[in-house]
Amino acid sequence: MVNGVVNMVNGVVNNNNVAHGQIHQTGALRNHHHPVHGGLGFRGGLAEIVATARPSRGCRATHPVKSGRKSHTIAPPHPWAMELRASVHPIRALTARGITAISGDMQCKRCEQPSRVEYNLAQQMARISNFVQANRDKMRDRAPIWWLNPALPRCPSCEHENSLKPVIAEKKRNINWLFLLLGEMLGCCTLEQLKYFCKHTSNHRTGAKDRVLYLTYLALCKQLDPTGPFDR
Ligand SMILES: [Zn+2]
Repeated sequence: MVNGVVNMVNGVVNNNNVAHGQIHQTGALRNHHHPVHGGLGFRGGLAEIVATARPSRGCRATHPVKSGRKSHTIAPPHPWAMELRASVHPIRALTARGITAISGDMQCKRCEQPSRVEYNLAQQMARISNFVQANRDKMRDRAPIWWLNPALPRCPSCEHENSLKPVIAEKKRNINWLFLLLGEMLGCCTLEQLKYFCKHTSNHRTGAKDRVLYLTYLALCKQLDPTGPFDR
């Protein structure tokens, strides 16, 4: 059960459009883990709450389940996910379908209150994309510390900072990758979950978490913007 929707842009919890009025006081997050992001100011044009779209069933599975082997295709776990594991639709296709905000479930680490949070797709993607373009040489194929240890949102119920944690699906095929990307919370995934992503997106990589996490960020950005500067 959720108690409302929190709109977030650039680390700001905003309660202007809370669905059921259950979110209590909110405020700007501390961006001490995000020094590079500190100067960016996407504060206006907060996400709308979008109607829930249904998963596309337009394409039929082309790889039927074989005994003893996993199917290549799955039922898309989210309206923005594809039938391929660990894959999301390009931003252009999502926008064309009217999907402009990406939501996901979070829960407070302290008071355990669940929240539904959504991010503005275009704004968050632009922010991450700009950051990657400006800093990839410095990153040397490794995720920066604030990707590894994401600064989490403040809980709207108990108001503790850094306490709203994304709920990550137990079954890896159901993980809300796009939500985690836009919230820069992919670092909340385990190494095993990140390796699952890389395995199913042709990034067969082993190694330390900062390396696999970096590859996950770039691969997801590439899925969203196939012509963007995200090739390794
Ligand atoms: Zn709380």
